[in-house]
Amino acid sequence: MALGRSLICHCLLLETSEGGILIDTGIGLKDIKFKNKRLGRQFLTLTNPKLDTKECAASQIKNFGFIKSDIRHIVLTHLDPDHCGGAADFPKAKVHLSQKEKVAYQSFALKNLWRYQSTQMNYRPKWQLYEKCDGLWQNLKVHKLKIPKAEIYLLPLPGHSEGHSGVLLFDQSKNRWLLHAGDSFYLKEEITSPFKFSVLSIAASFLANKAKHEHTIKLLKSLAGKKVDIINSHDPSKFK
Ligand SMILES: [Zn+2]
Repeated sequence: MALGRSLICHCLLLETSEGGILIDTGIGLKDIKFKNKRLGRQFLTLTNPKLDTKECAASQIKNFGFIKSDIRHIVLTHLDPDHCGGAADFPKAKVHLSQKEKVAYQSFALKNLWRYQSTQMNYRPKWQLYEKCDGLWQNLKVHKLKIPKAEIYLLPLPGHSEGHSGVLLFDQSKNRWLLHAGDSFYLKEEITSPFKFSVLSIAASFLANKAKHEHTIKLLKSLAGKKVDIINSHDPSKFK
């Protein structure tokens, strides 16, 4: 993808006793097959994605011994085309998402029609939506995901989109919490620099709410390196 430098689409695959859980799905096989209809010319022009089927989650899960039907749950940070398109490759999986994001996705506000692709989620997914925060994680209000035996939380990180959320899980291999912060920041300097680090204007143009985004960045700065390891969707250096 192109936003001044090469970006990645970082999804996570969790192996649990409840089956495979995907956190974000990236661009999917169907998106590549029907790219104009499902991704839209505007998205394709702005981001110039690689569109290699080998990089889709549906292809990559095979490297870890999974088949599509093993993926029982999908957790989405938000519904931008590069995050949710791959969900249609796993039609039997339950899709966990904040209610606010679903409402924005379905609204006819021009700004939402501009950013979301209604074709991507029209396969009638089994939604599990989260409205009011019903839990606390280290004094932060969170939604505990309704997945049996899994301790995974949605942490509201609004700003990039209306109902944008991070996904918190305990990384047993490191004995630390891990936060997938989605698109709440693009480059790690935004949450590690003591100064305000501005991303390119094209990235800023995707913000649904600038004030909420600034609040989210403040929260991430307070968490970074202390209580939790933070990754995001697109920073390649965070993937190394
Ligand atoms: Zn994105």
